[in-house]
Amino acid sequence: PSPDARRRVQARLDELHERCRAEPPGAVQRYYASGRGYYPPNEAGVESEHFAIAGVTIDGDVHEVGDAEHVFPLQSLSKVFSYALALADRGREHVLARVGVEPSGDAFNSLRFDERHKRPFNPMVNAGALVTSELVAGDDADERLARILAVLRACAGNEALAVDPETFAGELATADHNRGTAYLMRSLGMLHGDAEEVLRLYLQQCSVGVTARDLAVLAATLADGGVNPLTGDQVLPRRLVRDVLSVMYSCGMYDFAGSWSFDVGLPAKSGVSGGIFAVIPGKFGIGVFSPGLDAYGNSVRGIDVCSELSDRLGLHVFATE
Ligand code: GLU
Repeated sequence: PSPDARRRVQARLDELHERCRAEPPGAVQRYYASGRGYYPPNEAGVESEHFAIAGVTIDGDVHEVGDAEHVFPLQSLSKVFSYALALADRGREHVLARVGVEPSGDAFNSLRFDERHKRPFNPMVNAGALVTSELVAGDDADERLARILAVLRACAGNEALAVDPETFAGELATADHNRGTAYLMRSLGMLHGDAEEVLRLYLQQCSVGVTARDLAVLAATLADGGVNPLTGDQVLPRRLVRDVLSVMYSCGMYDFAGSWSFDVGLPAKSGVSGGIFAVIPGKFGIGVFSPGLDAYGNSVRGIDVCSELSDRLGLHVFATE
């Protein structure tokens, strides 16, 4: 794009950031205290005022505004990439037999399963992510984690992405619900291996530190069918990205997923640390970070930013006007 076009996009983003910042950010919640929304205890008191927006086009043009260098845990957004890796490793049929693609309408940590098929409803809820973590290939837990990190790094174009040890320690220390989920699933035959090992792997991927800019690059990679716009590498197969985006579209925003698809109309995923990324297929990726959450566990400002961009730029995937 010409310098002029770049300036125009940046000015619009700056203005959007300013406007959304004027709204109350929502409450930063502690997850096991509230049952929704999450910062591990060691991150209590995290500043609700942090607010960053980043956008990356499939041509690799990067825009950012606000605290775009602030690092926060990836949390549920990691589910997208372990699902992608499970699909790549095991194939579609095998993965579908173990985890469905139906929106559950339940909260992220629900203990309700798809009884008919004896599997979690979808890979975007915790139960489903435990299965996809187990499906990632590797001789041992270290190798499986290394492979998840490799996919995240390749998709983000950032070799520095790593598990934050403090976040992971906080997660593990407060993991009763997820641990209970893993054991329950094993007793029901939905997990087969070592429940502690799969729990750790799941919580490690949740604890990877990222910035809003990383989120935007991850989203842009999905927007371009698995080609990282910064490195030019095809890091995920195109066909697989279509599957991942379909599940994000119907299940990515907790039990608000239906309203989100209806109003905003973009495949997206949010996480309880306050990150959201949204994918505009064939065009660009957006990453937003603002830790104040609504009652569903979605970032309040993250939703505002994405709704507004979708409206103003006509980004809803079914909009033809
Ligand atoms: N680590 C969190 C959990 O498993 C992630 C939840 C989320 O971001 O939705 O409870």
